[in-house]
Amino acid sequence: MGKYIGLNPFPPKFYDRYPPVAEVVEDKCIGCGRCPNICFFDAIKMRDRVAVINKDNCTGCGLCFESCPVDAIIWIPDMNSCQSPVTQKYGMNGFEFSD
Ligand code: SF4
Ligand code: SF4
Repeated sequence: MGKYIGLNPFPPKFYDRYPPVAEVVEDKCIGCGRCPNICFFDAIKMRDRVAVINKDNCTGCGLCFESCPVDAIIWIPDMNSCQSPVTQKYGMNGFEFSD
């Protein structure tokens, strides 16, 4: 299975330095539950009908961003540049299909 590059809006040099991670704008989330089901990395849970992202699992691939019907998910630069084990395995903004 190949690796796929996600939908990253940041210029390459900026993103190399500050890889983006997803964040939910809580006031906009309508609790539809789409994004937890689309995340390959189990990085999103619903809590009190609001999506919550575990940034340690997020690779910034952008699939949740695309799935949200009310644009409640944004990408933010990860100023800590934390490279979680998941991100190290799949690469920044990457994900991998499995059988
Ligand atoms: S950006 Fe990708 S890895 Fe991060 S929470 Fe969204 S779907 Fe999951
Ligand atoms: S897809 Fe958007 S509205 Fe639906 S649960 Fe996720 S953040 Fe909330």
